[in-house]
Amino acid sequence: MRPSHLDPRSPFVLETHELGRRPGSMRTVQRTVAAPDELGSGMIGIPSGSDLELDLRLEAVMEGVLVTGSIRGEAVGECVRCLEKVVEPVDAPIQELYVYPERAQAAVASGDDEDEDVRELEGDLVDLEPALRDSVVPTLPFRPLCRPDCPGLCSQCGARLADDPDHAHDLIDPRWAALGGLAGSDDEKRES
Ligand SMILES: [Zn+2]
Ligand SMILES: [Zn+2]
Repeated sequence: MRPSHLDPRSPFVLETHELGRRPGSMRTVQRTVAAPDELGSGMIGIPSGSDLELDLRLEAVMEGVLVTGSIRGEAVGECVRCLEKVVEPVDAPIQELYVYPERAQAAVASGDDEDEDVRELEGDLVDLEPALRDSVVPTLPFRPLCRPDCPGLCSQCGARLADDPDHAHDLIDPRWAALGGLAGSDDEKRES
């Protein structure tokens, strides 16, 4: 067995020793941890150090330990249309099998499972962080918006249109403005 490089005191490391490798035995883990660095995409992410709530169930199965549950936090980003701050609640499901090390080695030795996605237990320890990233990042909006119908910024002056729905510039060419004035006075005559 490979010596573990995991620190059992790390908040992202889960202890499975008490499951005793008995299929069916389980324990739950609820803890609030500080979000790791760079948990997100360029446009939106969970700020480093902010609260992440882990609500997990660890269950021994034949091949290893199955971790299921959810990860909750708050992502902060920028609206792609108007650059306003966007805050999105995150509730990411997680389901990950951590294979017993000797099972993983046996699978590799027999050549029938070269799957790079297989995660392994390190001794009795689970390193949750990579799976946590894989669970959280895809739930973040690809194009964050401050609201679904954000009208964006004025192409003329950069004003945020959501703050000023009637925002408009007088774009009428002066030559046409004169005609507009005439049409306007016609309308006024008809109305009266
Ligand atoms: Zn916006
Ligand atoms: Zn404008």
